[in-house]
Amino acid sequence: MDSRQYVSIVIPAFNEEGNIKVLYERLTQALAAYPPASIEIIFVNDGSTDATLQQCQTIMQQDARVKIVDLERNFGHEIAMTAGMDYSQGEGVIFMDADCQHPPELVPKLIEKWQAGFDAVLTNRINNSGESLFYRLASACYHKLASLFSASHIPSKTPDFRLIGKKYINILKKMDEKERIFRGMLSWLGLSNYAVIEFTAPKRQSGQSKYNFKSLFNLGINGIVQFSTVPLRIATYIGLFAAALSLLLGAYTLWEYFTGNTARTGYATIILTIIFIGAVQLIVLGIIGEYIGRIHMEVKKRPLYVADYLTQANTEPAPSHARSESIHCHRG
Ligand code: UDP
Ligand code: MG
Repeated sequence: MDSRQYVSIVIPAFNEEGNIKVLYERLTQALAAYPPASIEIIFVNDGSTDATLQQCQTIMQQDARVKIVDLERNFGHEIAMTAGMDYSQGEGVIFMDADCQHPPELVPKLIEKWQAGFDAVLTNRINNSGESLFYRLASACYHKLASLFSASHIPSKTPDFRLIGKKYINILKKMDEKERIFRGMLSWLGLSNYAVIEFTAPKRQSGQSKYNFKSLFNLGINGIVQFSTVPLRIATYIGLFAAALSLLLGAYTLWEYFTGNTARTGYATIILTIIFIGAVQLIVLGIIGEYIGRIHMEVKKRPLYVADYLTQANTEPAPSHARSESIHCHRG
């Protein structure tokens, strides 16, 4: 087994000025027993427009364990986590939110489990205190759907609070897709050897959730389309169903004609049929479009993000990683 001594903690933050300090203090307290050289805290500033970056920098000046990956603009939570992971040097990488909804006091527990031999330590949120009914409903529907479409056994509901060991981090660093969802990538990995820790999520320390209806909807569609082609198969089924229906209708019309009854005619029937066929075609096109749009984004082969890597002395060379050549820029 590898040594499992050095841990990176990756914290994506988008407009979290009310949380950074509290989180850092709680984290420092929780990690008091660990030698500074065994911990690295990476704040990823995801294009914040408030004082998040300044606060991280103040903390970094006082604590050499703290590093900052400063993204040029807001790239979104998933890419922010990726950027932090790319620059991490730990043998294990912990991901946690900046809003204290992932209790820093649990971090030592994650580390213990990992050191006990698990290659990944996932978490399970028992309650969602403070989350709106809409949020909970949306999340329940999404997880139901996602588990229908995914072949994996990892808990689909696991929050983005987790420790991933080097074995998997090395593979995750090579995964280059633009539209990315960590949960889906983890389930693709298989994760044969993981532990789960349960926790109760408190309310956000300060500020508002960055996820609204639109971003949750996008995340939902992404979660399904990105990791499975089942919707394409469903499109085929919809087409087959419509074809079967029209065959039945055709047979019925012929039967009426030959038995002497006049075939049913009418404005409403015709319009309804046209609308039905039109709708089926549009739905199927939409599903195909979701995939073509993703192909379009992927073939452009753009780098995932643009980032600066900041450390206390700013003399440390930025750690090289799979995506570094195209994007890396070290601010001196
Ligand atoms: N976040 C980010 N970029 C974004 C949106 C969110 O880095 O575009 C961070 C945010 O600062 C927080 C974490 O991702 O640390 C989770 O966001 P949030 O608390 O809004 O999500 P929720 O807990 O409501 O699911
Ligand atoms: Mg939150």
